[in-house]
Amino acid sequence: MIFYLKFVNVYRMDKLDKILEGHQIICWDIDNTLINGPNSLLFRQWIKNNPDREHHIITFRCQYQDIQNIQHELQFDSEDFHTGIFKSIMTMPSEYDLDHIYPNEIRKLAHLDAQEFYDITHGLDKNHMMECLEICNNYKAQSCLSVNSKILIDDLYDYLKPSFDANDLLLIDALGYF
Ligand SMILES: [Mg+2]
Repeated sequence: MIFYLKFVNVYRMDKLDKILEGHQIICWDIDNTLINGPNSLLFRQWIKNNPDREHHIITFRCQYQDIQNIQHELQFDSEDFHTGIFKSIMTMPSEYDLDHIYPNEIRKLAHLDAQEFYDITHGLDKNHMMECLEICNNYKAQSCLSVNSKILIDDLYDYLKPSFDANDLLLIDALGYF
């Protein structure tokens, strides 16, 4: 059994090695990617194995407190993992925070006029929300470009894919089979 597990881990690490081969600057999402995801342990181990690469975190989190917690969260099951290995942690500017409303929900309401939008959302400004949505849609791809990275590993694959295709960037599904 132990031998089998070891074999599987080597196989998965090898597969990730091949996917990330040739990428010197690599961007990672946090939630459901580096933590709480099916491949989180593998990703963190890969990062530890490859300190010579340039690693960045890009998260939709925007609150200062959340960032303070990242170190603690990353260390949950690997005490030697340190945020110092990341060259930067990019967070969503708070002025564009959608205030916990899912982008898909806003997209569904996009056909409404401003008053209908206001009524259904209990007081939100449609123009402002559509501007936030547009920035959210492109935020991760733009962040990748800002550090000259061509690749992001993230669990929001379907949501992010159009913006990555539009910018000729590679998106790896963090929930995929490795
Ligand atoms: Mg995520």
